[in-house]
Amino acid sequence: MKKLLAVILMILLALECYLPAFAEDSSAQIDYTTGTPWLCSYLDGNVTADTKAELSDDFYLACNKEKYLNLKIPEGYSRYGTQIAVAIQLDEDIRNLFTSQSNAESHDAQLALNLYSLYMDWDSRNALGIAPLKEMTDRVEAIDSIEALSEYLGNTPLEDQLFCLYSLRQTIDLDDSSSNILTVNVSGLTLSDAAEYQQITSLGKVRKEANEVFLSRMLEKLGYSQEEAAKKIDNCLSFEAQLAPAMIPAADKKKPDYMQKTNNHYTRQQLLEAQGNVPLIAAFEKAIGYPEAETYLLAEPEWLAKLNSLYTQENLPLIRDYIIVHGILANASSLDRECFDWMKERSNTINGVVGQSPDELFISESVADELKWPVARLYCETYLSRNDKDRISDLIDEIISEYHGIIEEADFLTEETKAAAIEKLEAISKNVLWPDDWSKYGSEDLEIKSAAEGGSLWEAKKDIFRTNLNREIEKYSKPVEKGEWDETPNTFNCGYSAQDNSIWIFGAFARGEIYNADMSIEDLYARLGLVIGHELSHAFDSIGAQFDKDGNMKQWWTDEDLAAFRERNEKLNAYISAMHPWEGQDFAENKTGEVCADMGGMKCMLRMAAKKDGFDYDRFFRSFADLWLEKGTLNSTYYYFDDEHPLPYLRTNCTLQQFDEFLDLYGIKEGDTMYLAPENRVNIW
Ligand SMILES: [Zn+2]
Repeated sequence: MKKLLAVILMILLALECYLPAFAEDSSAQIDYTTGTPWLCSYLDGNVTADTKAELSDDFYLACNKEKYLNLKIPEGYSRYGTQIAVAIQLDEDIRNLFTSQSNAESHDAQLALNLYSLYMDWDSRNALGIAPLKEMTDRVEAIDSIEALSEYLGNTPLEDQLFCLYSLRQTIDLDDSSSNILTVNVSGLTLSDAAEYQQITSLGKVRKEANEVFLSRMLEKLGYSQEEAAKKIDNCLSFEAQLAPAMIPAADKKKPDYMQKTNNHYTRQQLLEAQGNVPLIAAFEKAIGYPEAETYLLAEPEWLAKLNSLYTQENLPLIRDYIIVHGILANASSLDRECFDWMKERSNTINGVVGQSPDELFISESVADELKWPVARLYCETYLSRNDKDRISDLIDEIISEYHGIIEEADFLTEETKAAAIEKLEAISKNVLWPDDWSKYGSEDLEIKSAAEGGSLWEAKKDIFRTNLNREIEKYSKPVEKGEWDETPNTFNCGYSAQDNSIWIFGAFARGEIYNADMSIEDLYARLGLVIGHELSHAFDSIGAQFDKDGNMKQWWTDEDLAAFRERNEKLNAYISAMHPWEGQDFAENKTGEVCADMGGMKCMLRMAAKKDGFDYDRFFRSFADLWLEKGTLNSTYYYFDDEHPLPYLRTNCTLQQFDEFLDLYGIKEGDTMYLAPENRVNIW
């Protein structure tokens, strides 16, 4: 498992362009305005001038209604609102790094500009056409026996393989946060979630259709007939459908016991036995280059048993087609114009993006994904300020200090558990805007030739992939460095890392209306302050609570206190599960951690506010509602159903109705929808 960033927001959905409106036949009869206890104001079109909006019944909507009526989702996006505006500014800032800066002085900047030039070199890309992918698919087609498949998967350098049947990487050991462990995990599914193969969701149908359109075009361009293309797509789905029942569905991955379930240590001998003919150990050592290890982590043993049973000569055509289909999905956007456009069309359809956005935005985002640190450094030097870094750092200290009181006053904990919680709180470290030491994030080990120097995009991407692998291999045998940045400062998010016991405020997030140096104390507390309190609360939510102050998965609660904590989480889960965006539509049961963190963040800010003379609570609560102002297309609403983050109107209303400060200020009483009786409140902290 990566660094376990418990995030506050989904990352922005992909930034792509034009979309053929997909049919919504099956949903035509649904009345989307039947949400309980509140209207799903997020869904574009649900709020009209006639929609009733009283502070005492739907505080979120009453504060935001006028803005909602004027809010328009920009072209190239699937949602819009206060935070998304900051995210869009980030996209534009990144694009401007490439379009307005002609002289790159540092090696890192030169790398980024060279890769950008290769992406934008359409003449060369069109001249190559689909040939680079064809060469790789031909190699897979030539695999004629299960032994040849094992040779391909186990002995071919990973960068020369089209796709794998598994994911192999190093993660931080859940039992010992100072060590890395080689981890075997499942590979991707074209429908994204194993549950889709049992009962397909609305989003699953959209994804399946978009994949079929895209893959048929690509396969025919690779030279297959229409019938052959259809057969290949079918084969891939059939292979996935056989694997899926043995895989953990996405909803279960967000449950608190997921990490315990997947923390399966195997000796080398045990893994050799479990892998059967699937060449996992060979791939680690020969295809990637890791040294022989004593212990491995196998996340999903049932899946490996199933994969092993399917790894036969008879199933070879299905396995080949699985590799080819996924290889196409992974590589199409680096090929010629036609492939690039088809790929954009596919992801726009799936993400429910409206309108068009220019290539430069999509491409600058791809460069930032691939050359993470060179682009991050350019971004920080161009847009971020040292003053903000210092000021936010002080604010975090203040919030951590206030949090002591929350733990000390928790009436369901014994002194013993409180003392351990305080110890954990005091050990939390902070990572603010950008890394203090840039020297660890240089790219001197990489060279990229620009378009003018005769470079090729395909080759450059392969070089980047191998360089990144080599960097990982080098880190593997060393102790894990605390506070090492996995994500870059230009990540639009914040997080808490349970294995590092640290909070992360990424530079691109603390900007604009979320944080600026001129904001009032009320806005500061309602926005970035609350987000910091939220991240801190993740240290004590249903997942964070499983990790001790050193980031090891270890119980530090008394049994009795842990039982009381779990009971509170169950009550919270029941409260959220009783809500529906519209009649007949449930949310997945995985939101307790985020809701607990929202409420903990609010409690912390209210405690700090109480110490400020003349604090304007009305401004504070309205500012909080504005922070979550957001609307989106139907598909982007579906994403929220399965995500661990509740929809924005719930993040506002559910949080606020737990607190007397809010209910008293607006005179909210029994009978009002915003009212929640003290005995029904669910804030854990
Ligand atoms: Zn969160």
